[in-house]
Amino acid sequence: MTVAAMSIACSGPAPAPDTEQSPASSSDGAFGPAAAGRKYLVERVDEAAIVQLYADGFAALPVKERILTWHLYQAAIAGRDIFYDQRYAHNLDMRDVVEALISHPAGEAPVRAEIERYTKLFWANSGPYNNLTARKFVLTCTPEQFASAVHAAAEKGATFPLRPGETIDQMLTRLKPMFFDASFDPSVTTKTPASGRDILASSANNLYSGVTAKELEGFDEKYPLNSRVVKVDGRIVEEVYRVGGRYDPQIRDIITHLEAAIPYAPDPTAQALRALIGWYRTGEERDRRAYDIAWVADTSSSIDTINGFTEVYLDARGMKGAWEALVYYVNRTKTAAIQKLASEAQWFEDHMPWDRQYCKENVQGVTANIIDVVIETGDAGPITPIGINLPNEQEVREKYGSKSVSIANVNEAYDRSMDAGYRSEFSWSPEETARAKQWQGAAHELATDLHEVIGHASGRLNHNLLGCTPQTHLKEQYSALEEARADLVALYFLPDPKIVEMGLIRPEDHREVALAEYENYARTALVQLRRMREGTTIEEDHMRNRQMIVNWLIANTKAIERRVRDGKAYNVVVDAGAFREGVGRLLAEVQRIKSNGDYAAAKALFERHGIHFDPKLRDEIVARVEKLNLPSYTAFIQPRLEPVRAADGAVRDVTISYPQDLTAQMLEYSKATRATREEFRRSAAGPVQGR
Ligand SMILES: [Zn+2]
Repeated sequence: MTVAAMSIACSGPAPAPDTEQSPASSSDGAFGPAAAGRKYLVERVDEAAIVQLYADGFAALPVKERILTWHLYQAAIAGRDIFYDQRYAHNLDMRDVVEALISHPAGEAPVRAEIERYTKLFWANSGPYNNLTARKFVLTCTPEQFASAVHAAAEKGATFPLRPGETIDQMLTRLKPMFFDASFDPSVTTKTPASGRDILASSANNLYSGVTAKELEGFDEKYPLNSRVVKVDGRIVEEVYRVGGRYDPQIRDIITHLEAAIPYAPDPTAQALRALIGWYRTGEERDRRAYDIAWVADTSSSIDTINGFTEVYLDARGMKGAWEALVYYVNRTKTAAIQKLASEAQWFEDHMPWDRQYCKENVQGVTANIIDVVIETGDAGPITPIGINLPNEQEVREKYGSKSVSIANVNEAYDRSMDAGYRSEFSWSPEETARAKQWQGAAHELATDLHEVIGHASGRLNHNLLGCTPQTHLKEQYSALEEARADLVALYFLPDPKIVEMGLIRPEDHREVALAEYENYARTALVQLRRMREGTTIEEDHMRNRQMIVNWLIANTKAIERRVRDGKAYNVVVDAGAFREGVGRLLAEVQRIKSNGDYAAAKALFERHGIHFDPKLRDEIVARVEKLNLPSYTAFIQPRLEPVRAADGAVRDVTISYPQDLTAQMLEYSKATRATREEFRRSAAGPVQGR
């Protein structure tokens, strides 16, 4: 499972990106020099922000771990084309065409600019389908203009993915509907097609070919996660992703790099890598399971990778794994901070502002590793999750556990690339804007840790409820109430002297950090209304929780004032002390509701403060946000690794750099896999002609 950038603190996808809520980060930035002044937002292409990702801890890793990372990094690039092919049968040909044009620019400037715009979006989304809407986007120049650019590039030496005997013009005719017709293969994944239509026939991805979901009902699928299901001569066949099967050239290349990594890996990692190679060789379910178990068992290593057919979001049936790779190291500083919180969980429990009878006696904090990614490819990049929890198989999770990671450097880059106008538009004063700029990242990171590590782990249920979960009693109110409880715990303890005592914030910064988070929290309750384009009620639980807390504070304390200036509404925090006192009172009540399963009280609380909003206020917020012209998603430029070789060619060390250039990076990746791509095309397992 992945955690999307839009969620507030814990898992569960939210409906749309929300820059104001991206769980921001960076004690590095706020407390250290690393992030100061460097470039995060590299460019804007339509609704996409192109942002550079930094991995500051890489250089401090021992050299053996840097070399291990280098081999895993190459394995991540080696499989990238697999995901392109899974996403769309024509993807690799289309990419080779536009990349040849980018590498051999020719023709009129406006046409060149349009090809560049299209290609950057193509790279960001790994093909011609928008990652948020699943809808196709197309070139806006004419097919004739495009054809003359292709011919001009060919004259300059560009090569194109021609089929045997095919001319350039025939290739252009073949690919014309893919580049220019938005109604041809209009959607990559359609889980709820128009009535009567088949989910597979309506989905343009290449996980299936020529079969419908209905035809698969009686079919005995032996490789549900790692096969492409096709119809050959009226018969349904599974093309298995493995050595000797589909994607053989890419998979063999991945294995070469994984094998090179093993001598540099500590034992548990080496075992997991061997198990992964075993699965790539056979494709068998039992070997996939053995790999999952070996990967979960490797909990102490500093370097880790995910490489394989993993998440199933691309498949309308939710069965086929999209290929992805991530290589990452544990961020020791940040992981230590949450472990410190976890080790003090009992202190927090003993100081909760709720009735003694709801306090736990042996509370354990919930922890996960905080990591920095070095590279993310396939289904995991350039658009990346902010957190991951694997493996997906429920039985392995229950028996052997799972690993959960939160990706710190992605969070940091989201926060640092945020549009400056965004904070100021909803801040009442320049001081508030400045405070948000300086402290919001660090404040929100600490609040998120408190929410996860202390918040969700805390509190005891009433004995009368034993044998029954609070969900049973609180029904549809449960999730929003539980999220509110965890948020309130974070807001309550953030200004507590204990935080300074634990060394999590410097004493001189404490007041400003806590205030920055309170102000951010109050602002977000307004800003999130922009996502509610229709109707007058809020459905999503995290959003209900925020509305409820802020509106309750406005109604019951003197902490926040709703002010209007020049026809614009603001939530202004006027008394941080009253804010905390109110949070404590509300938290005591929320805990009472949870402990006793008081459904009526939960319902009344959310009906009154969390669910309904004024559509006029929403319209105003939407208009203000639209004027700012914010990006709706972010694609990341990955760090770049480079080996330092000895005279005999052996890798002696590895350096890291930050290209700040999406084009250069994408061309470099494609060049690295040109040989396996061509072999794949020549092999029988290559793309089936036509759809
Ligand atoms: Zn939560």
